[in-house]
Amino acid sequence: MNIVVVGCGRMGSELAYRLYQRGHDVAVVDLNESAFDALPSDFTGRIVEGDAMNSDVLHRAGITDCQALAAVTSSDATNLVIAQIARKKFDITHVVARNFDPRYRKLFEISNLQGVCATNWAAQRLEEMLYHSEVHAVFSAGNGEVQIYELEISPVWNGKGLGELIDCSECLPVAITRAGKSFLPTKIFPLATGDIVHFSATMEGVEVLRAKPGVWEEK
Ligand code: AMP
Repeated sequence: MNIVVVGCGRMGSELAYRLYQRGHDVAVVDLNESAFDALPSDFTGRIVEGDAMNSDVLHRAGITDCQALAAVTSSDATNLVIAQIARKKFDITHVVARNFDPRYRKLFEISNLQGVCATNWAAQRLEEMLYHSEVHAVFSAGNGEVQIYELEISPVWNGKGLGELIDCSECLPVAITRAGKSFLPTKIFPLATGDIVHFSATMEGVEVLRAKPGVWEEK
């Protein structure tokens, strides 16, 4: 895929390099020439110096030929404008934007933009790690409001129904893995010691589950 990454600071350089390593054709744009020093020396994607708010700069980065764009500068206004230009003017379907300052998050939501606020996301993850260092989140959606967790069934729950374990509206079962084989669970599914249950939950959902006996503590 041809991908344009706008902003080559702490986030853009990391993202551009990851995409490059996966074999994508990456062009990265930044105002400051020195920002490109953050890219590892084996990065051979296209480097474009200039203000991404200038359409000539976006053209030089190949916006007319790209299938995806990530606007990850440290300016929310820039990210919002570039993401909208990419979607509306250039019809790029995969557009994501970085929300730098949590105070502007609403603007991203109103614009219907796929974005992540690293500050909110990290704060949420850290809070959760403080409460449950033993809980293992394997996937984080949006800004981390809903995550998918992995839980190994302890002997306390052997033979009991999945619906007894996961019984609140803030927590939904996703999959059960037994002896290396996964399947979609039903509420009446009888659990067995050692089953791996994946469930999606909000922080409140995790709290409800954690309060049940033998869920994480008494394995
Ligand atoms: P960081 O916060 O470390 O991820 O850095 C953000 C990067 O975005 C910096 O390297 C800035 O130079 C870059 N940046 C900010 N505004 C623009 C812009 N209008 N066009 C291109 N790059 C920008």
